[in-house]
Parts: sequence; structure tokens; C-alpha cells
Amino acid sequence: MNDILPPESARWEWLEAKVRALMARYAYRNIRTPIVEPTPLFVRGLGEVTDIVEKEMYSFEDRLNGEQLTLRPEATAGVVRAVAEHSLLYDGGKRLYYMGPMFRHERPQRGRYRQFHQIGAEALGFSGAEVDAELILLAQSLWRELGLQHVRLELNSLGEPDERKAHRAALIAYFEANAAVLDEEARRRLHSNPLRILDTKNPAMQGLVETAPRLIDFLGAKSLAHFDAVKSILTANGVPWTVNPRLVRGMDYYNLTVFEFVTDQLGSQGTICGGGRYDYLIEQIGGKPAPAVGWALGVERVLELLKEQTHAVPALAPDVYAVIPNVAALPTAVSTIERLRALGVSVQMHATPAGGEGMGSMKSQFKKADASGAPYALVFGDDELSRGMVVVKSLRDGAGGAQAEHPLNAVSDWAPTLQSKR
Ligand code: ATP
Ligand code: MG
Repeated sequence: MNDILPPESARWEWLEAKVRALMARYAYRNIRTPIVEPTPLFVRGLGEVTDIVEKEMYSFEDRLNGEQLTLRPEATAGVVRAVAEHSLLYDGGKRLYYMGPMFRHERPQRGRYRQFHQIGAEALGFSGAEVDAELILLAQSLWRELGLQHVRLELNSLGEPDERKAHRAALIAYFEANAAVLDEEARRRLHSNPLRILDTKNPAMQGLVETAPRLIDFLGAKSLAHFDAVKSILTANGVPWTVNPRLVRGMDYYNLTVFEFVTDQLGSQGTICGGGRYDYLIEQIGGKPAPAVGWALGVERVLELLKEQTHAVPALAPDVYAVIPNVAALPTAVSTIERLRALGVSVQMHATPAGGEGMGSMKSQFKKADASGAPYALVFGDDELSRGMVVVKSLRDGAGGAQAEHPLNAVSDWAPTLQSKR
């Protein structure tokens, strides 16, 4: 679990602002659900025989009433619970997005943390392939907005439950015939959830998984038509894709379209975003049946990838650093600074450091002003104050920086000259 500190946190805010603007353009609305949910929501929703439910959930008992609770490992189950609980689909489909922390007890490594952050988009109450495509286009637009490169889209279709049944039988027969190659986990999952074996991270089993019966070969005409429709909308929009018949995703709730955006630039944690259709999840957790589709991206991995691609850190510098030589100037100085801030100027005020007395020397204040990165210092010198004036000094052109006096009683006249194009 990481602390996210400045200046790194500015990159997070930058990303979040891009996401909010983009979600608005696609008419997706923000939803915020609790970080803690009843454990059975995840067990029922994600599937008992999944990595998350078997070994990654932070679960605990509420000491006051004995209820089993879990820190959310993902947000789709909570969103679906909220949609059902508040009957959000009563007047038609809803497009929603969220951002926030998720919790999984995994082995920490690059791109894999125990508290990590996801941004997700969900479209509930729509059954057509155009919404699958819209969500993929939304993610693709986000990569473009962020300036992210070298991300490719992999698609698959998991079909419908009856198609999965036929495939499951073939899969069990295949793995039984190759039982010697199965690891302990796979052997345990063979009869409970053989599809999960395809999601194994064990390198020794990759060969076996490669040649396993493919779900896509068991799809009927309707499922194939849905898949084709998604693909042709993407193609018409210039989004390259490849079909990965072994893409199954980590939760059991998916059907039909599934997809991942992957990169080769993050080592083995190369999936930055994953999603798909989950037409049976709402019913599964006790809501009125309704189709749905969504994705979630890993914020840490997206930011890491941006860093790989030499993304510049957004500047944190204020417009102005306020230098205040004497304590006696504080009331006037602070009220001027407050007026500037109200007019949209970003002002960092000099303040007494720990153990300091008075405001500190001019020399130390100007050192701080330079370090702040502000292009201007605002100097509340006694002489100027007595004449109702304050000095603005440029910090950009060295010791002999240009300076000008401005009247304290007309802040709004000169405030705009200090303001950066933020
Ligand atoms: P992986 O196969 O890497 O374990 P996943 O299939 O478990 O990923 P999802 O549940 O699909 O991941 O979550 C969506 C995205 O969230 C992932 O593509 C990834 O970018 C990110 N993510 C998942 N788990 C973690 C984690 N422990 N730390 C950081 N990011 C994560
Ligand atoms: Mg995982």
C-alpha cells in the first residue's frame, strides 16, 4: 500500500481531470459506492473459485454485529449492488464511472500492489454490441488524451452459459488427458471451474493452455454475430484489435465480449485495462435481470506506462511567492494575498519555519521564493506599504529581475498580470 505524495500526486490529479472531462463527453455519470461491502457480494458476484475470492480478499468480521465484510477488490459488484438497490434502471439504461482504491492481498511487485486504484466505466441496461464498442472507444480515447502509446487491444468472446457448458466438458476432458502437467491449483479447479485454469499465471502450464479447446469454437450464430458487430464498429473507427482466444479474465461474471488493453513496456504486469460483458451479474446478486458491460483500468499501471514514455510531470509552481519582511505587515499582506487568490492567482505565502522567530531574513525568504518555482515574488516591504503599494519582482531573470509597484487598493487591476494560463 503506497502513500502518494506531491509532486507525484499532481500526476494523479492530472489523470483524474482528463478522465472526468472525457467521461462527460461520453455522457458517463459519476457513482461513488462504499469501500466496504458484505463479503457474500464478492463471493457470489466474482465466483467462489477465482484468485480474488480464494486468496486475495481482505475480509473481516464486524466486531459489533458479526457481519462478514470485505474491502472491495474491484468495484463492479458494488456498482451493480447499488444499481439494483436503488432501482437505477427503472427508466432505462445508465452509463456510470468511478475512481477509487481497491484492495487485494497479492504478492507486491512492480505494477501489483495491495491497495491500488482503478478507474472504471460501466454501461448497464444495454444489450447491443454498440455499447461494448462505445466503452472500448472510450478507453481508446483516454489513451489518446493521455498521450499513451504502445497499447494494443485484445478481444475474445466467452459466449453464453449453454455454449460455455459444451466447452467446459471439452476442457475437462482435455485437462484430464494431460493431468500430469497440471499444477496443484489447476487440479483443484479442474472440476469446479476449469475455465479458470486458462487464466493461470504459471509459466509451466502456458504450453498446455495454448493448445486447450477454444471457447470461441463453441459459439453459436448469435454470439458470433454480437462479436462480429463489436469488431466491425471498432474497425470502422480505426481501432486495431486482435482476437486472443485464451483471454478469459479473472472473474466469473463475464459473458460474450471480453477485452484487455495490454502493453509490452511494463514487464509481466502488462494489462492496463480489462473488461467485458456481464449480462447475468445483476440477477446473480439479486437484482432484476439486466444486461451490462464495463471495464476497469489500473491507475498505477497507466501512470507507470506514461512515465516509461517520458511523460512530463505537470508543474506545481504557484504564480506568486509572497515575501513578508516583518510580522507587522501580516494583516495587510494576508488580506492582499486573499484578494489575489479570490481572483484566481495562486499564491504561496512565506510562513515562519519550525523554530524560527519573526518572518526570517529577506535572503532566506527569497531562497524559498526561488525554490517554489513561482515566476514572481510579491514583496510587502515597509516603505512601499506605508505608501499603499506592494512590489512585484520577476524571479525569472536573475538577480536584477524587473520589478514594479502596484497599489494595494486596486488589486483586481494588476492581478491578471500575475496569473499563469492554468
Ligand atoms: P492481473 O491479471 O494483472 O492480476 P486482473 O485480471 O486481476 O489483473 P482486473 O481485476 O481485471 O485485473 O483489474 C483491472 C486492472 O486493474 C488490471 O488490468 C490492472 O491494470 C489493475 N490491477 C489489478 N490488480 C492490481 C494490483 N494488485 N495492483 C495494481 N493494479 C492492479
Ligand atoms: Mg489479478
